[in-house]
Amino acid sequence: MNRTYIAGLLPDELCRELGLVQKFRGTQIFKWIGNGAVSFEQMTNLSKDERAVLSEKASLRSSCVSQVLKDPDGTIKLQVTLRDGRAVETVLLTDKEGRKTACVSCQAGCAMKCAFCQTGQLGLARNLEPEEIVEQFLFLEAECGKLDNIVFMGMGEPLMNLPAIRKAITVLTHKDGRNLSSRRITLSTSGVIKGIYDLADNGPLIRLAVSLTTADEELRSQIMPVNRTNPLPELRTAIAYYAEKTGKRVTLEAALMAGKNTGKESAERMIQFAQGIDVNINLIPWNSVEGLPFTEPSAAEVRNFTDILKNAGLNVTLRTKRGRTIGGACGQLGKTLVDSAQKSGL
Ligand code: SAH
Ligand code: SF4
Repeated sequence: MNRTYIAGLLPDELCRELGLVQKFRGTQIFKWIGNGAVSFEQMTNLSKDERAVLSEKASLRSSCVSQVLKDPDGTIKLQVTLRDGRAVETVLLTDKEGRKTACVSCQAGCAMKCAFCQTGQLGLARNLEPEEIVEQFLFLEAECGKLDNIVFMGMGEPLMNLPAIRKAITVLTHKDGRNLSSRRITLSTSGVIKGIYDLADNGPLIRLAVSLTTADEELRSQIMPVNRTNPLPELRTAIAYYAEKTGKRVTLEAALMAGKNTGKESAERMIQFAQGIDVNINLIPWNSVEGLPFTEPSAAEVRNFTDILKNAGLNVTLRTKRGRTIGGACGQLGKTLVDSAQKSGL
């Protein structure tokens, strides 16, 4: 029998899917889901009979946590196995101030093929459903308590799965449910221009990060195939539009790879790209991925690059290295999935 999975449904949809006549029942169940309930059994404001009937029809989880990995620096990575046996990874990051951020995946794998990214080496298996996105967040909260922020920076390109992300955000920000503030949500894209306009025009109103990596057109096309059809001048216009339309400063991210995109000329191109738009720049020293032809930058290389940008008046932050012992840092997601599949002979 096909089960109904309900973690991605809104109160009125719950009523429809579960055949509930009284509207407030949908809101009651929705509230339980936002509070982290994993079964109807926990919903003590429903009668025993009602709970039994609903348990027959539907489930609060379509996926399950198949592995929990903890880095001594506080980063936690969950491997989440989806209902079709595929798996994604989701990460809890804690910053120096103790703020907790969920870094969730939106696709199993990724089609964008960025040359420096582990996930990009997997190819795309499929888009995630809204409930599969919501469930990652709820799994993390079950593991580590209430979270402050959510970033769509896990596996996959969020702007290639915008409908599911929109729905997941509607559920997570709904006042009768988890009631997360949309100000605390960030989506990171490799630079899908159409999607940036769509998000700017149709919402939700969230923070945008763009993985610029480099403002050198030729190099960017080489290492980020998305650039071949979404070139830099048009990307820049789209970013400016987003910042203007939403009144939100956009983050430009750059994974720094030794000798590739860290030189003086690279810095100057980035300054030129950023000038005149409301952006801040987030630098991420490249995290090593086995088998890829890149090298981690030295501390001096990173410092020089950072200084040039700062001296030009740009707002620059350096991402601290986190979660590296568990393959949970930026760009490392997917490695443990490949390893465990190999071990089990898949
Ligand atoms: N697909 C989206 C979001 C996930 S990737 C995107 O590309 O924006 C999250 C960030 O990690 C991106 O900024 C990406 O450029 C960066 N990244 C990818 N591989 C990396 C690596 N090996 N080391 C450091 N950062 C990496
Ligand atoms: Fe996909 Fe982002 Fe990795 Fe590029 S960097 S392959 S878009 S997950």
